[in-house]
Amino acid sequence: MSRSFLASAGLLCLLVTSACHKVPYSGRNQFNLVPDSLMLPLGASSYTSTLASLTVVRKGENHEQVVQIGRRVARASGADYDWEFAFVKDTETINAWCLPGGKIAVYSGLLPVARNESGLAFILGHEIGHATAHHGAERLSQQLAVLGGLAGLNLYLKDRSSLSGEQRNLLLSALGLGAEVGLMLPFSRTHEREADIIGMMYMAKAGYPPGESIDIWDRMERASGGASVPAFLSTHPSYDTRKENLRDWMGRARKRYQRNKLDKDTTSAIWS
Ligand SMILES: [Zn+2]
Repeated sequence: MSRSFLASAGLLCLLVTSACHKVPYSGRNQFNLVPDSLMLPLGASSYTSTLASLTVVRKGENHEQVVQIGRRVARASGADYDWEFAFVKDTETINAWCLPGGKIAVYSGLLPVARNESGLAFILGHEIGHATAHHGAERLSQQLAVLGGLAGLNLYLKDRSSLSGEQRNLLLSALGLGAEVGLMLPFSRTHEREADIIGMMYMAKAGYPPGESIDIWDRMERASGGASVPAFLSTHPSYDTRKENLRDWMGRARKRYQRNKLDKDTTSAIWS
């Protein structure tokens, strides 16, 4: 065995060992090649550039609620990130997102679905969960692996097969699509399920009643007019799958909530 082969095998072993992380609560072992030292600057710079194209509201009651509840839930996560919460004025869009390192945005169109403080705490918990579970880095690692695999296969086919260039491209795009449906989509569904659980546990630890997480998905389904693609083709789990998943963890979340319950009503409607 050549020395260079042994050196590459050693490096690979080191990468694989150092690349395995456990996801909070789900306990899933995650393969992650991209460290925080790379992801955090990436997250921060795309946060600045994405927000530059949106209308960010920096004062007023809604902005304060988003920042205050976001900070409370982020504190409950125990993660030491430089958390940022932007409130985006866009009543047409029911959306919230999170970039690596805890850079979060909430659109005003989401507030009627959140309806109350606890609903918003769950949505923020879900986004915070994506950050603490390093989902962005895991997806990037997966994409790098798929791209690397396809590039290697292309080289192999070029060298040894009698396929024409056109046939080779057809085969590669079919495989790429296969990877998308067979690997990436279930992967993001796993991420969504994990973010739901982590979000519910964080909201409960921050003192908000976890039952609100189920009501959120009911309201979301109504807001989307019941439209959804079949779960196996969608990047997101169906509403029923989400609720079932949350119910499995509800007992644990309630116990946590009982210990940390806030001394005020956080479920009366604020937004409609
Ligand atoms: Zn999500």
